[in-house]
Amino acid sequence: SFLPNSVVQGRGTLADVVLEEARGHDRTLAKLVTAEERRRALPLAGVTLGVKDNICAAGFRATAGSLALSRYAPPRDATVVDNLRRAGCVVVGKTLCDEFGMGSTTESSASQLKDVVGGAATTRNPWDLSRVPGGSSGGSAAAVSSRQCALALGTDTGGSVRQPASFCGVVGLKPTYGRVSRFGLIAYASSLDVPGCFGSTAQDCARMLDVIAGPDPADSSSAALPHPPPLSEGGYERLCRQVSGEGGDAKPLLGLKVGLVRETLRRDGTVEEGVLGAVDAASEALRGLGCEVKEVSLPAFDLSLPAYYVTAVSEASSNLSRYDGLRYPAEVEAGEGGDEGFGGRSLMAQIASSRGSLLGDEPLRRILMGTYTLSEGYGDALYKRAQVARKRVQQEMLARMVAGGGECDVLLTPTAPTTAYACGDKELQDPLQMYLGDVMTVGVNLAGFPAVSVPAGMSLGLPVGVQVIGAPFEEGAILNVAHHLE
Ligand code: GLN
Repeated sequence: SFLPNSVVQGRGTLADVVLEEARGHDRTLAKLVTAEERRRALPLAGVTLGVKDNICAAGFRATAGSLALSRYAPPRDATVVDNLRRAGCVVVGKTLCDEFGMGSTTESSASQLKDVVGGAATTRNPWDLSRVPGGSSGGSAAAVSSRQCALALGTDTGGSVRQPASFCGVVGLKPTYGRVSRFGLIAYASSLDVPGCFGSTAQDCARMLDVIAGPDPADSSSAALPHPPPLSEGGYERLCRQVSGEGGDAKPLLGLKVGLVRETLRRDGTVEEGVLGAVDAASEALRGLGCEVKEVSLPAFDLSLPAYYVTAVSEASSNLSRYDGLRYPAEVEAGEGGDEGFGGRSLMAQIASSRGSLLGDEPLRRILMGTYTLSEGYGDALYKRAQVARKRVQQEMLARMVAGGGECDVLLTPTAPTTAYACGDKELQDPLQMYLGDVMTVGVNLAGFPAVSVPAGMSLGLPVGVQVIGAPFEEGAILNVAHHLE
């Protein structure tokens, strides 16, 4: 799950890394007398953290799974990493991901970087080594699932935290867009990208969110909202603990209204039987906890996937224009110029050659598509229409929620139509087939809502997750539901 270069990078064994990182906290601790003071100052003292390789952490490279960034060593931490380190977390390594977060299997970075990092950098699903961990944050999900670290950071643009969490049997939280700073993330599609949390339990994700949530002057899209009351009172973590009812309340979710999204539960073969079974079991469990579970319809659901892919590739083509072979150091010098380097060539030829050799097939495909969707004459037909569809998806989801005048506190869907794919699955070589697997998660990113994937049983020996979606900034509600479904 970890990039070999990142874990080793001359920093010795895991024990050495932990000791070195922990030493930084000695001075903080020395000034504090009571245990309570220490707990407040370092709420995650010594908790091991894996960081997806498209998030900057000082002391490690940030390759985003791409040759284009194979030598990029960021000078400082992303805000999320800085927050977690200040809270006492120990960064034990960078985790593998699909190149620039584009993919659903974590298979695309390995071959790209194999020669650079040395050895076989592949991530497998800890439950079945012939399966993928999902993606694009597959390394983070697998690392938490196999207990290589307690918590891990990922990024979720269209499901890259929730889908691998589902495939690997862990909890994966995608916060509301704007709840958590994106500063220090290597951008894929900026209006959709959100940093997310992986943990073994909802409570672990809640404790992590407590530390990373909040406005950041370095990210103008981070929400200026103050933390909601439960945060200031000890946070989401406390919310999970409180509602679990120490007195043994039998109906801790009494009256909570859950909407089962009809369009995600089609019994026509598009969703695996085992996945439908897990959603049924989760609805039953929620009824038992006191929830009112009702079917709701989202007619615009089928617009999500095309609207997402048009938006994502458009933004990607713009964001990835910076990888021109000039700005970031890369291990492999682009071009075949030999000693003369790029000497006699025009700047355009140099850039074209660099991009062709430094970027993998999937980023190149998306740059080409995105250039097309934004070009004059097609922009109105494709990009603008996708934005209209995006608005419809968002308004419709909001209209189902109590916050938007509807009836539901949360929505429930499968996290993915299937369990983990086989490694090297031939069908997924067709990009359109791979994109179809994102159908359950992308609408949430278009809308900017928070959602969590929580393990909900097994199907043929593989974990299945269900997705709980909340109204904007209602992370507390979905974590609470996830906590009770565990
Ligand atoms: N699989 C989706 C994509 O390739 C989602 C990726 C993500 O969330 N980073 O776009």
